Parts: sequence; structure tokens; C-alpha cells
Amino acid sequence: MDNSEAYFYHPLENIEDIDDFYEAVKRNHLTKSISDERPYTYWTIELYDQKNGIRGGGGLGVLAADTRRIAEKMEVPFTLITPFYPSETHQVVKDGLVEDIHVPIDYHKFGFRYIDKVSIKCCGNLCYLDVIEKRFKKSRILAITEPNFGELYSGMSGSDHRLYQEVALGFGGYAALKLVGLKPAIIQLNEVATFFAALARLDELSSNGMDFYEAVVYTRKHTLYTNHTLVQAAEAEFSLDQFERYVFPNLKSLAVKKWISDKFVSGRIKLSSISIEIAELKSGVSKLHARVANYHDLAGNKVKFKAITNGIDMDTWTLPETLEYYRNLGIIDDINAPTVNYGELLDHITSSKIRELKRIGRNKLNETLKHYPDQNGRVLKFSNSDFIFDFKRRFVDYKRPELPFIDPVRLRNILESRNAHYILTGRVHSGDYNMTEKLRSILSLIAKDDYLNSHVHYISDYDERLAFALSVGSNATINLPIVGLEACGTSWMKDVSNLNVLISTHDGGVADGSINAYLNVSGHDEGEELNVLYQRMEEALAIWENDFDLEYSIKMQLNTFLPVISGARMMNDYLNYLFPK
Ligand SMILES: *Cc1c(COP(=O)(O)O)cnc(C)c1O
Repeated sequence: MDNSEAYFYHPLENIEDIDDFYEAVKRNHLTKSISDERPYTYWTIELYDQKNGIRGGGGLGVLAADTRRIAEKMEVPFTLITPFYPSETHQVVKDGLVEDIHVPIDYHKFGFRYIDKVSIKCCGNLCYLDVIEKRFKKSRILAITEPNFGELYSGMSGSDHRLYQEVALGFGGYAALKLVGLKPAIIQLNEVATFFAALARLDELSSNGMDFYEAVVYTRKHTLYTNHTLVQAAEAEFSLDQFERYVFPNLKSLAVKKWISDKFVSGRIKLSSISIEIAELKSGVSKLHARVANYHDLAGNKVKFKAITNGIDMDTWTLPETLEYYRNLGIIDDINAPTVNYGELLDHITSSKIRELKRIGRNKLNETLKHYPDQNGRVLKFSNSDFIFDFKRRFVDYKRPELPFIDPVRLRNILESRNAHYILTGRVHSGDYNMTEKLRSILSLIAKDDYLNSHVHYISDYDERLAFALSVGSNATINLPIVGLEACGTSWMKDVSNLNVLISTHDGGVADGSINAYLNVSGHDEGEELNVLYQRMEEALAIWENDFDLEYSIKMQLNTFLPVISGARMMNDYLNYLFPK
């Protein structure tokens, strides 16, 4: 039973306090106060929050879900605006090939309540969107949806359907915010697919009596564009014709329409170029990424990004017993931020406790694996003494899932030396033929060798549950992005938090730390890197054989990375940047 009368929703009145604004301008002091009615708003085309019925594609969505959970814990008024996709993709392996299957999803089953409809204009029609919401204590998920909304990332980037989804999120989401009586203290654009939220605000201000240039200033001061990509050139473009059909009909202000039209270059536009224009605040997701992201504004100047390294919600991603151990040792506080003297307190970590926690994690892994058979349909079960390497991440080229298989004989020798297992999991993007082929060739290589076939396991349909189970239950994790191409990465953070030995290239958020804090893979070329990778795998095996080495490595990793991976640290960084005292 829907009990709408329990809530009071404001009518569709003007969302902005234009008088307040002019008052602030007079005092030369644009404040950004945050309150329950004026929350931090976070816009994302992707949310990875299976508990709430929304499955994402990868790190971008996991980060969004974690950010909301952390805000909730830190009692930050926070509204996350996202689409609810009525269908999602799962992957199954059939005859050595990965196949997509599509599953319908009903939001009612996940505690969302229907609020009302809002409409946007596209191609001469009114399109109606259902506004649904799920409230928590301090935060909420506000979603827009309709039966033909499609799946996350369906269609090609740059296609009409993607533009429709993005416009629906921006203009529809902005109307949804008004519907529930909220005003944004800040608009955080989690990547450029959410650009239209800021545009909707600019249009609202400019068509409601604010001078256009002042509306631009106001919007810019209250918009943060968070970039997760390295190269602007790789981004999709839209044409003027597409904007005429999907974007312009939703604009009330002629000045805003003119402003956007002027930003087209040869009839085409990249959302990043206009996101840069509409957001004064810009951030990258690790120190290295903020430094190397190669973006230029329309005047040709290189864009400066503030480095705010991603973190994880440790409550979600850490074995509860391990978290409790950290708390008891006093190395993290009640919001999971490292304490002032966590570095000294780490000294109390013992190898016997690490092994005990890993045994608990191993049981958890075995439980989960009952639902995830490997490529041969086997249900895997590992004993406490089995050594497990894992490689769990999206199958995209730069993450190089094939690298450890380049010398199968060497890989086999390493595994055989300790009778170790290698678990490989990750989803291939639909339509990525290159990676589909790489996965197929890895699977056929494994199938040809009896030892590898019984010790290397590919698990399809990688998701949050599997990510958690592997983090808590394996011994060493392998992370091999080509240096310079990973913006941050959060999978490795889950491993550090769960006492796994990290084998990684020095990239993304890993490069926030020192090269000596983990088992670093580097080299002048891929051949050299491969050789180092195999050495590091041997070292990881040796570390787990020796209590002193195990303690030392884990302490070292935690000492360097606990502040990096802490979601509370990330949220505080955002708050300090957005709402400076
Ligand atoms: C944590 C997680 C990710 C994050 O991947 P990165 O590429 O390391 O940022 C992706 N997918 C799932 C299912 C996850 O749980």
C-alpha cells in the first residue's frame, strides 16, 4: 500500500532563491549551505547497488553507491539522482563463449515508491517519466524510469538513445527534484553523461528572471564535474541535429540555447567541453589521474582538476570481523576513517589474526561460489590451505586480463609450485569483439592444459557479490592496468582492506602510495613487466609461507593505503572542496 499522504510534496514552484542570490552577490559572498531541503545532489547515469535493485557496469556505479552510503553514515544530506533501468544484462558461458541474457527488473520489489510523472520533450513528443524514490535516514535515491528506457549503456555511445537517456536524467531528474521539494546545494556530475542536470538548472535560472551571465556564474559556482576518463578525444560526440531533436525543445531560455549552439565545432559537440564550461569545480579521481587527464576547454587551455581520490565504503566491502579487528585495534574510527595514530597501532596486527580472518573469508567465498560455477560448470570449493590468486575486473583492453597467460608454462610452474589456484572473473562489454576474442583465447588455452584446466577458473557474470567474496577469500590479487590508463580503480581497495597481498602496476589510486608499499609490477616494455609479474606472484606465495613477511607486507599496505581507500576521507575531501569553511 502506497502511503503518499504521509509526505508533503511542494508544488512545481521555482526551485531557486533568486532574491537570496542577489543578496549574496551584493555581499560578494556566494554561500553554499547544505541542509535537508538543500542537499548535496549527486548525478550518475550508472549506479551499482544491487541491494536497491540497480545493477551497474563497473567502477563508476560502485563509486556512486558507496558515496551515498558514506554520506548516509556521515549524516550528510545527500540525494543521488539516477535512472532505474527496467532491464539488466547478465552473462553466461556457453561452449567457451560468453553470452548476454536480459532480465526485467521491477522497482517495487526494492522498496522504491512511485511519486508522480514528469515529462520531457523529445522529437516533437512529450515523453513521460515515472519519478520513484527510496529514502534512507539522511540520503535518498531519486530515480526516473519508464518501460522503454532501455538498459544501462544500451546502444552505441553517441546514439540517439543514449542522448535520450542522458537528457531524461538531466531534465527529468531536475524536475523530479522540484517535485519532491528539494533545491540542490551542489550538483555533482559523476561524468559527463549527467551534464544536462546542470544545463536544466542554468535554463531554470535564466528563464526565471536572473540575468543570463549571472545565471552562468551561479550555476558554475554550484556545479562540480568529476572526470573519470583520461583522454577527451576518446569521448563520444553528438550532432547539432541530435541536440535540435532532444535538447533544445527542453530549453525555455533563448540565451541558453544560443550559449549551447555557440559551443558546437563543425556541427558536433562533446559533453566534456560543455561540462568544463558549466562547472567551475572540477575533480579527478586520483592524484595521478588529476595530473595527467588531458582535457582542454574551448579556449584551448589545459583544464586543472582537483585530485580527490576515490574511496570505498568499508562497511560494504570489508569482512565484518576484519572491520571489528581494525576498530578494536583503534586504527579506524566510527566512520571508518583512519585514526591519528593508526600507523603506530598497526604494529599490533599479528599474522595469526590475519590467517584467522582469512579462514572466515574463505568460508564466505565457498558459500558464494556455490552460485557461481566455473567455465566447466564445476562448483568450486577451496580449503584453507589452498592459495588463491584473483583477477577480478571488467574485461577492457587496458586492464590486460590476458597478460598472465602470455607464458602459460611459466604460469603453470608458479601455480604448481604451491598447488595454487587462479580465479579470473570480469564482464565483457556487449559488442566488444576484441575482448570477447581475448577471453575466448584464454579459455581455449586453459582448456588445452590439464593442470591449468583444474587450477585456473573463469567465472562469468562478475558482480558485487563475487567481488566481495573474492576480496575476503583470496590471498593475492592482480591488477595490471597499462600505466597511465586507470583513473583510480577501486577493486584493489577492497583487497587491501581485506588483507590480501596486492600485486599491481603503479597506476590510478595505487600510485597515490609509494612503489614500495605493495608488490609493484613495472618494466620498460610488456615483456619486462610480464617477467616482473611472475616474480611478484612467486613472492606473494612466499609471503604467505612466512609469518614475519605476511605481517610486514600487510602492515606496509595498510599504513600506506588505509587513508587512500577510506570513503570517509573521500567524503571529507569533497566537503572541504565544495563547502570551504
Ligand atoms: C568494485 C567493483 C568494480 C570496480 O572496478 P575498478 O575497475 O577496479 O574500479 C567493478 N565491478 C564490480 C562488480 C565491483 O564490485
